[in-house]
Amino acid sequence: MNNYDVVIVGAGAAGLSAAQYAARANRSTLVIDRAGSGGQCANISELENYPGFPDAITGEEFTERFERQARQFGAEILTADVEAIERDGDRFRIVTDGGPIAAATVILATGARHRELGVPGEAAYGGRGVSYCATCDGPMFSGQPMVVVGGGDAACDEATFLSKLTDRVILVHRRDRFRAQASLAERVLANPNIEVRFNTEVEEILGGPNHFGIEAVRAVRLRDTRSGEITEESAGAVFVFIGSDPQTDLVPFVERDAAGYVVTDGEMASSVPGLYAVGDVRTTPFRQLVVAAADGAIAAHAASHRIDMLTDAIVATATR
Ligand code: NAP
Repeated sequence: MNNYDVVIVGAGAAGLSAAQYAARANRSTLVIDRAGSGGQCANISELENYPGFPDAITGEEFTERFERQARQFGAEILTADVEAIERDGDRFRIVTDGGPIAAATVILATGARHRELGVPGEAAYGGRGVSYCATCDGPMFSGQPMVVVGGGDAACDEATFLSKLTDRVILVHRRDRFRAQASLAERVLANPNIEVRFNTEVEEILGGPNHFGIEAVRAVRLRDTRSGEITEESAGAVFVFIGSDPQTDLVPFVERDAAGYVVTDGEMASSVPGLYAVGDVRTTPFRQLVVAAADGAIAAHAASHRIDMLTDAIVATATR
């Protein structure tokens, strides 16, 4: 069975950053992902907010550079399905569809999958006005009316962010009150650029040719859940924030918060010694690439320390 100091599950920004730091610390390092590198980042059309990249870069090129840098320091990247992460004393056994792998430490970087509305037009206009990240895509729609869907912290936070880019944000929420923290909700309700529509659901996202002649979002069809009344609102973009599902199926044995995200300490350590969680899968106040990359570096550093500690313990036992 192959044996590594650090096995990283997930090759998004958090995982590749962890790989680079672990490999550079001279730890044998393997990254496993079922779908190649990049995670959510690979789909970003113009990445313009990563520090040090003043000229927008595609998510694809960004990922390619990230991966090349990790490999340069000696990290290996394997495309495989991880079926289970099992504890094996102080260590771990990673079961993949290509066979088991042993690891002294594991860094979980499996991300979170944003929920989708499932309404007509959502998939058709994905990347052409339908978005799940206001920080990433909002600036492309500056000055245009925008619709935000959801009633939690993310919807309120992101609607506030978008209200600085346009004077017309329509926040659509299916119930009669926000789920968001009071401070965020109050800020939204007091914002003159945000119109809140409670008891309202998106029926359909409508498209048409934009000023470049490309089919993109042009309006939404809304339904008042009490009266059943249907209205149509012009919009250049629809931002969906109806929660996300952290990808934690592989680690049912670690502590998670009420929303299902892995709880970590400042070193990204989970409740299981030797198992770290980084990026969108962990409890964090701000899910961004730069945060994920920083998480990866911290976890790799902590994992490296743990390996030193385990090695010292073995040497001490052998010389006793
Ligand atoms: P969330 O708290 O789960 O809220 C999801 C919202 O979407 C709810 O209002 C829910 O409506 C609505 N929703 C769910 N499914 C829907 C559907 N099919 N159609 C229409 N609406 C739907 O998720 P979140 O806002 O992404 O937050 C996730 C976690 O990140 C939370 O722990 C949050 O505190 C944290 N976060 C914090 C901040 C911050 O502190 N600044 C910012 C962002 C996120 P109901 O209310 O009717 O269920």
